[in-house]
Amino acid sequence: MEEAPKSHPRYFSLKTREKISNAMKKGITHETGLIAHGRGEAFDYLIGEKTIPYADDAERTAAAALLIAKNPVLSINGNVVALNPRECVSLAKAIPAKLEVNLFHRTKERIDKIAMELKKNGAKEIYGKKADANIPGLNHDRGLCDSDGIFSADVVLVPLEDGDRCQALRSMNKTVIAIDLNPLSRTARTANITIVDNVIRAIPNIEKWVRTLKNMDKANLEKRVESWNNKEMLQDVLSFVSKRLNSMF
Ligand code: ATP
Ligand code: MG
Repeated sequence: MEEAPKSHPRYFSLKTREKISNAMKKGITHETGLIAHGRGEAFDYLIGEKTIPYADDAERTAAAALLIAKNPVLSINGNVVALNPRECVSLAKAIPAKLEVNLFHRTKERIDKIAMELKKNGAKEIYGKKADANIPGLNHDRGLCDSDGIFSADVVLVPLEDGDRCQALRSMNKTVIAIDLNPLSRTARTANITIVDNVIRAIPNIEKWVRTLKNMDKANLEKRVESWNNKEMLQDVLSFVSKRLNSMF
């Protein structure tokens, strides 16, 4: 593929597309991941391609939830690893949390490639290969996970998760943190804490909050998580977007 010209006004977006496209060619990202990325780009345009205050707030709450968790797990898929592998590993270390490769279109080959990518970026232990447990309510491969990973996690961070799986994790009484640029998606509406932000900005910003909140009193963090109103936040995001669109021209 021809390199994106640095002078292009949308250079960053083009570079990001290149990353996803290259990862697909390497067998890391599934071809449907390209479509998901396109949908994400559209919603990123609507919020102005930056972290809006409601997302920053959700990122702070997510950091608190991850810090008070007993067994926090970051679920990793082909899009996330294509966009920011180093940042995912760094966040996992900062919490600390486990990293589990968990795929909608699961093949052993893709799991291995993604795990390798995480290892190249400094991860020591990676979950997701054993697949010795099943998330109830999901048919065949889509429910597979590790018994000492996602299956027994109390808090799971799922960037770009499908709505069904998000619901199934919630039904297991887990706290689900989703990163999803589409505030209308089933995932966004099902998660306990939804971060309406690009994973590229969200993952490092959650880490920033983890470092800021790390030495804070646990009771304070718990209070923040318990008082989080996800529905209200999603309504705020939608009014932010509509106000923004109304004032554009
Ligand atoms: P539902 O949640 O309603 O079931 P879906 O899961 O079918 O929807 P997909 O297109 O499969 O929707 O999921 C991809 C989701 O990930 C989209 O909502 C898209 O906005 C979001 N997304 C894509 N790229 C990014 C990104 N870089 N950062 C954050 N979110 C993204
Ligand atoms: Mg979704």
